[in-house]
Amino acid sequence: MRAITVVPGAKGSARLDDLAEPLESSGAVLVQGLALGICGTDMEITHGAYGWAPPGKDRLVLGHESLGRVVEAPEPAGLARGDLVVGIVRRPDPVPCPNCAIDEWDMCRNGRYTERGIKELDGFGSELWRIEPEFAVKLDPGLDDLGVLLEPASIVAKAWEHIERIGGRARWQPELVLVTGAGPIGLLAALLGVQCGLEVHVLDRVTEGPKPALVGDLGATYHHGPVDEACQEVDVVVECTGAGELVFDVMDNLTPNGVVCLSGVSSGGRSIGVDAGALNRELVLSNNVIVGSVNANRRHYQQAATALANADRDWLRRLITRRVPLDRFQEALERGPDDVKVIVDLTS
Ligand SMILES: [Zn+2]
Repeated sequence: MRAITVVPGAKGSARLDDLAEPLESSGAVLVQGLALGICGTDMEITHGAYGWAPPGKDRLVLGHESLGRVVEAPEPAGLARGDLVVGIVRRPDPVPCPNCAIDEWDMCRNGRYTERGIKELDGFGSELWRIEPEFAVKLDPGLDDLGVLLEPASIVAKAWEHIERIGGRARWQPELVLVTGAGPIGLLAALLGVQCGLEVHVLDRVTEGPKPALVGDLGATYHHGPVDEACQEVDVVVECTGAGELVFDVMDNLTPNGVVCLSGVSSGGRSIGVDAGALNRELVLSNNVIVGSVNANRRHYQQAATALANADRDWLRRLITRRVPLDRFQEALERGPDDVKVIVDLTS
């Protein structure tokens, strides 16, 4: 079978390999890979800046945003041949820590978790893959290849769950949400905000391409200027750009008891002048919270599956701006100006 592999740490090492079919020991459910979503993490891995090969191996099968069709599954798995499935990315650490012990591996305390396609486990960028039944998520068959959006949607579902839990420490009636960044994560965050009945504003830099209309067609408002112009008095900010300085800009526009959730990862190394005293004062006197959120557990995948099932299919389809055949996967690793989500078609 063909698979996209990479030597973690070695820039430009990604290639298409012919590998043996996956061993049954890697999971009782055999899946035909249909599509693979590409995100910033995959680009970091192929640029040699992130990722770990499985122990004893040089190469890692790339890919964590999966979609496949069940080829065979054992009787008790609750899956049948033909079912549309997505694989959960993270596996609990072997100790396990208190969170991994209760399947909250997204909150792992010791960092010894593993991740398909990222950290010590082969990913889903192959024509066939296997998965343990408890880490497969069955999808509404009507979603078709839009199911490839489930993994990014799970990241957003976790962020929203934590925002609600934090907000719920006191009486919580949020109305206004600002999403910074109109990439796949930002647009899916906006979708979930709209589904919750909130007034959603989305801030990005571009004035052209598909993003402004995608935001507008969701019933949200698109902005491309400074944060102050995008909105005042926001209850929730979902930060999806990784641009650290935006955090400080949005703090000035947050209501008392407001929550800023950081979902984007900054590349680091950039220092900005921060008035730590003013930030401290802002947080304390307004009961404000800045929280980071990463990864997702099974519950979040299920929340995301519901959100996608309830979303407008035509709108979701517009998020996938490019489909690249497997033998030209390298093209998916280059970001075009009008790209939102680029996927690799594993069947062509
Ligand atoms: Zn853990």
